[in-house]
Amino acid sequence: MNQSFDVIIVGAGLAGLSAALAAREEGASVCVLERAPESERGGNSRFSNGAMRAVYSGLDEIVDLVGEISEAERARADFGRYTREEYYDHMGRITQYRTDPAMCEILVERSSETMHWLRHQGVRFLPLYEWQFKTAEGRIIFSGGSALETYGAGDGLSSALFAAAERAGVTVRYETRALSLSRTNGVVDGVKVFARGAGGGREFVIAAKSVVVAAGGFEANPEWRTRYLGPGWELAKVRGSRFNTGDGLRMVLDAGGKPYGNWSGCHSASWDLNAPDANTLEFGTVFKRDDFANGIMVNARGRRFVDEGADVSALTYAKMGRAILAEPNQIAWQIYDAKARPFIHGEYRIRQAARFQADTIEALAAKLEGLDQAALVDTIKEFNASIPDDIPFDSGKKDGRTTRGLPLPKSNWARALDTPPFEAWAVTCGITFTFGGVQIDTTGQVLDVDDIPIPGLFAAGEMVGGIFYFNYPGGAGLMSASVFGRLAGMSAAKACASQVATR
Ligand SMILES: Cc1cc2nc3c(=O)[nH]c(=O)nc-3n(C[C@H](O)[C@H](O)[C@H](O)COP(=O)(O)OP(=O)(O)OC[C@H]3O[C@@H](n4cnc5c(N)ncnc54)[C@H](O)[C@@H]3O)c2cc1C
Repeated sequence: MNQSFDVIIVGAGLAGLSAALAAREEGASVCVLERAPESERGGNSRFSNGAMRAVYSGLDEIVDLVGEISEAERARADFGRYTREEYYDHMGRITQYRTDPAMCEILVERSSETMHWLRHQGVRFLPLYEWQFKTAEGRIIFSGGSALETYGAGDGLSSALFAAAERAGVTVRYETRALSLSRTNGVVDGVKVFARGAGGGREFVIAAKSVVVAAGGFEANPEWRTRYLGPGWELAKVRGSRFNTGDGLRMVLDAGGKPYGNWSGCHSASWDLNAPDANTLEFGTVFKRDDFANGIMVNARGRRFVDEGADVSALTYAKMGRAILAEPNQIAWQIYDAKARPFIHGEYRIRQAARFQADTIEALAAKLEGLDQAALVDTIKEFNASIPDDIPFDSGKKDGRTTRGLPLPKSNWARALDTPPFEAWAVTCGITFTFGGVQIDTTGQVLDVDDIPIPGLFAAGEMVGGIFYFNYPGGAGLMSASVFGRLAGMSAAKACASQVATR
């Protein structure tokens, strides 16, 4: 078995596979180490919805990426466009202007070309109709940002890239967990691994001229979550891969890499209370509960605690998990009436879901265990009395229909909860991925604690710090994984070529 490659990639998610394909394009021999067995390969990327946030110029570019948009689709949708300025604006506002300008620039400026590159690798895209505004007449108005999703969601994305990697001659080793980086005179020159096998497995070193670490964050590590995100985070449910336990971060920090970014921050969403503690591929995203903008959300005291209509949910959902985790017993209930039904997505239809229904608010409240029922009834009365009758409801845009007189407003799409049947969905915090990472330069090379690039060491994906702070615009995780994966793979291969040339 070959134990030496030009480039080793740790992790077979979107970042790792993008790095592998880019390194092969530069002529490097490439080995991807994947901790998971083949049946569970693909990391969070495979669990994802496949939504991707990229700059696009309009319908023509959508057609280029999708292949075909039927006349019927063209007639019912306004595809709009998403400019670099809008992307910068979203990244700036959402991260409270903390995003590293150099990292943000790479993400935004390379987003469109990376979509075309993925398409060239065999990834197929579809218009992401679900995330857009829908008018009362049924027209779909693209709200900017994530216009496309991958065909077959994360699973389709992952399969397409594994197939591309196979065609390109990339070696993938499953059940091979990277343990640490091997270094000689400060130069990273291999990876120590534990490979499962007969009798348990064995440890050995695989040599490489460059290493790209793309092993995800520490979202699936309850001890690290508590340590870095804070008390209570061990109780969050994991929305994605159970293998992202911070191994990659630990080994890069141990090799002198510089910690960077929002180490106490993460992407976390409303997630069904009945979801398992750790997600499985069988469930995927069925426990996602992101429709709160169509109703209200209350805590165990029966009180609202967030502005459910602050913005489109693609720009707010990634901070909802944290908000729920801070409430008593880490639980909340999303309350809807029948008017919201057309806006609630198919993923709610699963037997295990924590869903309750009744014809009156009082009867609904009586079904919600652990909730102050009388307070909920009062909250809804107050909420219904605060709805303005001079601003029309419009699901086709941010309508500015804000509640009046409540200490905590609902800023858009405020409608009385008055039409039975009423529904409640019990939700908790689901963690998606962590924001803290290591610092890289603009080539993807890891910087050490003195800001000097570490020879032979590159990082990509969730492990890159400095991009997301506090919140996150939907679709930017996959985009960043592919943009920075491709960058790191290309740079890692070029670094090996220059090592050969200087020998
Ligand atoms: C339920 C869910 C839905 C999501 N939906 C979207 C979406 O629609 N759009 C979007 O932009 N983002 C979405 N995301 C976020 C997105 O999935 C991530 O931001 C992105 O996939 C990160 O890619 P990555 O390659 O860095 O990490 P991953 O895809 O997680 O890959 C990391 C890989 O490293 C491997 N690994 C870990 N430790 C080791 C080790 N020691 N040795 C070897 N291998 C190791 C893991 O097994 C894994 O395969 C979603 C995430 C989840 C969980």
